[in-house]
Amino acid sequence: MTTRVALVTGALGGIGTTICQELAKAGHKVVAADLPGLQHKDAWVAEQKAAGFDFYVAEANVAEYDSCKAMVEKVEKDIGPVDILVNNAGITRDKFFPKMDRAMWDAVISTNLTSLFNVTHTISPKMAERGWGRIINISSLNGVRGQAGQINYSAAKAGCLGFTKALALELVEKGVTVNAVAPGYIATKMVMAIRDDIRENIRNSIPMKRFGKPEEIGALCVYLASDLAGFITGATININGGMHMC
Ligand code: NAD
Repeated sequence: MTTRVALVTGALGGIGTTICQELAKAGHKVVAADLPGLQHKDAWVAEQKAAGFDFYVAEANVAEYDSCKAMVEKVEKDIGPVDILVNNAGITRDKFFPKMDRAMWDAVISTNLTSLFNVTHTISPKMAERGWGRIINISSLNGVRGQAGQINYSAAKAGCLGFTKALALELVEKGVTVNAVAPGYIATKMVMAIRDDIRENIRNSIPMKRFGKPEEIGALCVYLASDLAGFITGATININGGMHMC
């Protein structure tokens, strides 16, 4: 298969790490991008090296346009143009609406939605010029169906689906596909750290009675990034153990 440059944002997180690993196993050169100045970055890089993964590490705050532009320019200079982009970085700031303040709204919208503009804007026109590209946006079950206590997150992740469909249409004749992945509950460290009884209730509410594996998200990204997925664009792929079907 063709080796391509794949940039993954939020790469040091639970799902991002596995997406990087699966893309590398599929033969791609992986750029692992995350926030500047993360304390655990060196340990993460060492852990990945020990597991046999030699990622190029890039830094940007996805909530800031100039930071993303500078990162992309550096990556292009050091490694080459980005062929596959996985917009994975995301945060939550949960509270029921009356208690949600404007800072919680702004943080989630800028990190989970405006970030799609910030990161993709310098990458997608060049993909179109070269006539090949894959953009994969990580949305969420809670963006597809809505979730109480997550007005900001649900709005941002639903916005991600609109962004995906509209950009897919703009690029539809350019060899660039744009798709969204909407995971349900995935067994990342964060989910596994939820109090046992609460976690057990969540698990029981999933028709398959289990959490998703990060590898299952990674494998889906590898497929969507492949040549064979070239006829899929503007799609939202639900990956949630049967919790929500549409
Ligand atoms: P995580 O918290 O483990 O990782 C998120 C990563 O994003 C972190 O490494 C963090 O440093 C990075 N990040 C946060 N703000 C950033 C910023 N401003 N700029 C650059 N990087 C930033 O989360 P995760 O569980 O791995 O989630 C990854 C994606 O999957 C997110 O978009 C999340 O909303 C989505 N998702 C997760 C689940 C789940 O069950 N874990 C379910 C549905 C959707």
